[in-house]
Amino acid sequence: MQKTADVIIIGGGIHGASLAFHLAQRGLKALVLEKKFLTSGATGRSSGLVRMHYDLEPESRLAWASFQYFRNWKEMVGGDCGFTRTGFLYFTHPEYVESLRANVAMHQRIGIPSLLVEAADVKRLAPAFATDDFEFAAYEPESGYADPSASTNTFIEIARQRGAQLLQDCTVTDILVSAGRVSGVKTTQGDFSAPLVINAAGAWAAGVARLVGLDIPVDTWRHDTMFIKRPAGMAPSHPTAIDDANSMYFRPESGGLTLVGLEDQNPLGESPEGYTDRSQPGFVERAIERICRRIPLMEQGSLQSSHGGYDGITPDQRAILGPAGPDGFYLVCGFSGTGFKIAPAVGACLAEWILDGKPTTVDVTPFALARFESGEKLVGEHAYKDIWH
Ligand SMILES: Cc1cc2nc3c(=O)[nH]c(=O)nc-3n(C[C@H](O)[C@H](O)[C@H](O)COP(=O)(O)OP(=O)(O)OC[C@H]3O[C@@H](n4cnc5c(N)ncnc54)[C@H](O)[C@@H]3O)c2cc1C
Repeated sequence: MQKTADVIIIGGGIHGASLAFHLAQRGLKALVLEKKFLTSGATGRSSGLVRMHYDLEPESRLAWASFQYFRNWKEMVGGDCGFTRTGFLYFTHPEYVESLRANVAMHQRIGIPSLLVEAADVKRLAPAFATDDFEFAAYEPESGYADPSASTNTFIEIARQRGAQLLQDCTVTDILVSAGRVSGVKTTQGDFSAPLVINAAGAWAAGVARLVGLDIPVDTWRHDTMFIKRPAGMAPSHPTAIDDANSMYFRPESGGLTLVGLEDQNPLGESPEGYTDRSQPGFVERAIERICRRIPLMEQGSLQSSHGGYDGITPDQRAILGPAGPDGFYLVCGFSGTGFKIAPAVGACLAEWILDGKPTTVDVTPFALARFESGEKLVGEHAYKDIWH
């Protein structure tokens, strides 16, 4: 077996691609191994929301550092990530208004354009939205959504121009470890060697970790989304929103469409090989009922399509990042249904961790696997309830 790469990355989603890009920037040649095709996992199904509103400061910092990429993709990466600025609104339950206030203050301290607005302001921003069930919302005027497939493809394209390789239709079946250190992988296309192996396998990450004897608390999480055609009477677009009061999020899409996802009834523990070409029974009815609560005019809209996807989820619904298990093995997984928008900065941080011994773009050491070993969970200082419930 010949030395084939500086680093082997298992998984061709946004995180494998971002890391390959950032390693290439630092002169390391990654080999990305993908069992199906690029973006065939969660990334290809992602709703692509790009916002900075989290209740955990390191996550907001990751989203803010990543936002610089989305906004300046051509200069920072190359090509186009399809970023569309729509503005972003966060509606929370009335009992979390003080947390909302504190979290907006935390975002402002970091430098994120975020402000607390009143219901009347929301009405001006989005005349079609019902605004009678809340007093305050958080507003991020610069946020919106991006195209996860285009983002992944451009990361990989530029990485390949700088020496990275991508092998698709290539399943990693074993990870080779000798003297406590990873040395390569076995795959359906032969064996490859490298001194560093990265688990960026999304909903499959627990199985990949088991190949080195590591148990990680990453379960599978299924999530459905729906596209609805907006009625003619609505304005051409509307802000993106997370609407905790209705356990829902939504954003506009081109062609007069609105994408809707729900925070509840996302099944855990299913095989990630489950069907994704359609949503689960009952999802569309629930999603229509919720979106019509927030945007009553949508009663005159029409269903366009719906589908599902799988991501890996952890007990605190936050990612697992950094070295774990044998020397040279790294985890970049457990993104818990919110990992797209932070991928650019996560890739930068992991490249720093690998090459410099510590992440500096953002201190992501709190996301290490060790937190679960000591029974800790990452919780925001002014926490809302878990987004997925
Ligand atoms: C429906 C849906 C909507 C979402 N909406 C948003 C959103 O609006 N905003 C946001 O920030 N996040 C969102 N997310 C979450 C986000 O999309 C994910 O966190 C992110 O895409 C995960 O990227 P990844 O690269 O870690 O995993 P994936 O994209 O799943 O990539 C992992 C890859 O690993 C491959 N693989 C697995 N095992 C092996 C193996 N043994 N050998 C080789 N390859 C292997 C898989 O085929 C897969 O392609 C959403 C997720 C879903 C499912």
